[in-house]
Amino acid sequence: MNKEPALYPWLQASWQALLRERERWPHALLLTGEPGIGKRVFAEYLAQFLLCEDPQKTTQPCGVCDGCRWFLAGNHPDFRVLQPEDAEDDKADESDSKKTKKKSEIIRVEDVRALADFVNLSAHRRGVRVTLVVPADAMNVAAANAFLKTLEEPPSGAVFILVADHWRRLLPTIRSRCRVFPLALPDPQQAMAWLNTQGVVNPALHLAHTGGAPLAAMDDAAAEWLPVRQSFLEQIAQPATLDVLKLSADLDKAKLDTGLVISWLQKWAYDLISLGLAEKIRYYPDWQDALARLASRAHLLMPYVNQLTEAQKLSRHPLNQRLVFESLLFAYVDGLRGKGRQGKV
Ligand SMILES: [Zn+2]
Repeated sequence: MNKEPALYPWLQASWQALLRERERWPHALLLTGEPGIGKRVFAEYLAQFLLCEDPQKTTQPCGVCDGCRWFLAGNHPDFRVLQPEDAEDDKADESDSKKTKKKSEIIRVEDVRALADFVNLSAHRRGVRVTLVVPADAMNVAAANAFLKTLEEPPSGAVFILVADHWRRLLPTIRSRCRVFPLALPDPQQAMAWLNTQGVVNPALHLAHTGGAPLAAMDDAAAEWLPVRQSFLEQIAQPATLDVLKLSADLDKAKLDTGLVISWLQKWAYDLISLGLAEKIRYYPDWQDALARLASRAHLLMPYVNQLTEAQKLSRHPLNQRLVFESLLFAYVDGLRGKGRQGKV
């Protein structure tokens, strides 16, 4: 039987749009969109559809043929996933993946080379071999260049599905060889209805925290780090008394992803500026009062937003986390005081 959820309700429209172009499907498709909207599920659904052997299939994989059953069991011989933890972490329990800190965040050139045999061999079943690259922007430069060679001379029957939150971080040469297919944020009502069915309490708030991405909102509601973020926001809401060194040390001890903490700061700065300029709050409606107290100075944070963007780009690389936080938090305090500090991050 077909494994549920086949496709999240908010992805159906995109799926139908993709199906309408079926005659012209490229050999490389790049799925983009906000984190937490189900891009990977969509990519896997497409992969299963391509590998489904039911001659009658029209709009969805049948779920019962050999191709579908192998795919759903995770052992289809003509399907590969290229992802950061592939190399040595095959046995890791999937449900543990969020807690595993040591896992590589980079797709390395060795991983790409290991794929070449699969791509160039003839297919076991019906001529299609599907490779999922997720997240595609995790390829380092060497890996991306090696991958580019495969994209430039695609063996017949090879199909590549790339998934990326940050498509701008991909090499332009890779981007230009893919058909870019953006997945939109769901309609808020639809997202909220779905979160309700998942038993999420206060879905509107969690949806706001994640900018409208339902899967991310579900994680947000259940995250172990909620108290850490709460304390973090309480402290940055009081820049005059903020103890940057202590907060940075505490964050470091919490062993969170650097990028996650930077995203909290990015959303905070975004809301401050948006409240100051447009009287709108997107991410932290529950912090309205604190934001309002600082909003008159928010315009001073404009350059700071760029600094955060740069820091976020680097966050996958192994930098000294505590120093990154210190630098960003000092810059935040100085920024609000109108003293621009040249960022060291
Ligand atoms: Zn099937």
